[in-house]
Amino acid sequence: PSRLLLQVRVAQVTPDHLLLLAEDLTQARRLEAIRRDFVVNVSHELKTPVGALSLLAETVQDAADDPEAVRRFSGRMRAEAGRLSALVHEIIELSRLQVAGALEDVETVEVDDVVAEAVDRARTAADAKSIRVAVAGDRGITVFGDHNLLVTAVRNLLDNAVAYSPEGTRVGVGVQARGDLVEIAVVDEGVGIAAADQDRVFERFYRVDPARSRDTGGTGLGLSIVKHVAADHGGDVSVWSQPGRGSTFTLRLPVAAPAPGTQPSAPPTP
Ligand code: ADP
Repeated sequence: PSRLLLQVRVAQVTPDHLLLLAEDLTQARRLEAIRRDFVVNVSHELKTPVGALSLLAETVQDAADDPEAVRRFSGRMRAEAGRLSALVHEIIELSRLQVAGALEDVETVEVDDVVAEAVDRARTAADAKSIRVAVAGDRGITVFGDHNLLVTAVRNLLDNAVAYSPEGTRVGVGVQARGDLVEIAVVDEGVGIAAADQDRVFERFYRVDPARSRDTGGTGLGLSIVKHVAADHGGDVSVWSQPGRGSTFTLRLPVAAPAPGTQPSAPPTP
């Protein structure tokens, strides 16, 4: 249960008046706790790749006269450095979202452009696994928001769909106007997520299978970034999944203008 935390100060005392000022510190304390947790988690997460890098560097040094071993271990160092760099990038992105809360650059954004750009960026990973990405649904829908953040959100969902699916499967992106909302659904035929994990996957650094996530270069921050981006746009993200069959992640955002031919969910007031 959350308790209200008030800081009360005596602001003015006169013979017949006492003026007290009360400030609500509840939100400030909550943010402080989130930040403290985050720092603890981040330090823990950074230790793994840094530790691996220093161990690998030592191994390379010891194997200096074995070119094949040097080649192999420096390849692993590059992969580890890449993971570290992705992690740092996502930590910065997430802490910016956590601190700023509201959006800075709000403009009218074309959902089609967001989806096309996200699909384009996920293409390399999809091609490497012979996964075909198809886009379908309503076109010409706009939302108010930050174009780059929205691309990041859809791309994170696509990257996951590819990472947690077997080779040769299909990934779909469906765009659908529903009154004053637009739904962007990313559908995969991958490993799926058990019911007990479905809520938790949006938490920072939560992974269903840490070893698998590490193999795919995951940081455990992708979905938590998606959740923040959705909330900052006045929307949300949810998951529907069947283990062994696949998952559907749906990003729901308020539209800037309802698409022609769709009914707004509430009639406009005169
Ligand atoms: P990660 O970097 O580990 O992918 P995310 O925050 O993006 O971190 O996702 C958290 C966890 O949720 C993943 O580790 C994975 O276990 C699970 N997950 C996310 N997307 C999918 C998906 N499309 N199919 C199956 N599991 C998924």
